[in-house]
Amino acid sequence: MTPATRIAEALRGRSHVLLLGHVSPDGDSLGSTLALARALWTCGQHATVGSADGVPTMYRFLPGSERIQTALPDGATYDAVVFMECSSPERAGALAARAAGVPLWVNIDHHVSNSGFGDLIDHDPAAAAVGELVYPIVREFLPTLDAGTATCLLCALLTDTGSFRYQSVAPGTLRIAADLVAAGASVAEVYEQVYENRPASALHLLGKALDRCALAEEGRVAWTVVTQAMLRETGAVMEDSEGIIGALRGIAGVEVAALFKEEPDGIRVSLRARGRVRAHVIAGAFGGGGHAAAAGFTGHGSLDDVVRQTLEVVQRELGAVSES
Ligand code: AMP
Ligand code: MN
Repeated sequence: MTPATRIAEALRGRSHVLLLGHVSPDGDSLGSTLALARALWTCGQHATVGSADGVPTMYRFLPGSERIQTALPDGATYDAVVFMECSSPERAGALAARAAGVPLWVNIDHHVSNSGFGDLIDHDPAAAAVGELVYPIVREFLPTLDAGTATCLLCALLTDTGSFRYQSVAPGTLRIAADLVAAGASVAEVYEQVYENRPASALHLLGKALDRCALAEEGRVAWTVVTQAMLRETGAVMEDSEGIIGALRGIAGVEVAALFKEEPDGIRVSLRARGRVRAHVIAGAFGGGGHAAAAGFTGHGSLDDVVRQTLEVVQRELGAVSES
């Protein structure tokens, strides 16, 4: 039995499944969680989807996203919980506490930093998106895939692969994408909904952030910030910072891009790496995680302190890969 068939068998017949994505949700976490929920709903099963940080506007086109809950009713009971794209239970944020006492924990993830928690684990760091791991589970429930569920899974694949451009894209990724398109999902529509449906304020924010971009380590590192003041000046919200870090990584010679976002609970740091540099090793030094190419953590202290400490660890990682 594959992990996918084992998970499908374990979820079948459960009376109430709770599906949790991660905080600061992205298209992979939301698309994968919704796809599995839709499969359960189609089969007449009771399933609840929780996202502690809600659904960013760019993902509200996902069919079923209006059913995603940011808080769960007191007294609701679940007989299985699925952690989607959470390298540890804490990544589900405030909703993680609702998993306490649930008899079956399922952990589906592709982060190298996954801690291996849970009763049933489908963890594959080679998967380009968690959507790749969820696809065979969904097919166990839905031998015929509907266009809505296919759209959720295509969103997962497309957003986590930089629109099918990253090194992680393998023949299997494209075969699944082909199945999803055959089932009625559209690459053009998902791309347009996610990336070409932005408020002008998001571009003004991008402009300000790019204007403040600094280089370090002889051009091997590019970094910038998004402060609360920049949000006020542009009328943007933090989720509009999507796209900034990708632009930094595109600078010739840059091996590490870092974006420092001033949030109420600390400084959210996003890291992207190219070549042999391992972003998750840098993030891991601050209690975060992710993949070699993309990782993150929350830093504490002033913005200047977090920038300085991060650049020190980045310098160490650059040194380590230069020597090896
Ligand atoms: P982001 O910069 O938020 O787009 O995150 C980049 C990647 O790192 C995504 O795959 C996230 O799921 C992962 N990631 C971000 N923050 C953390 C964290 N604190 N712990 C583990 N993984 C993280
Ligand atoms: Mn992912």
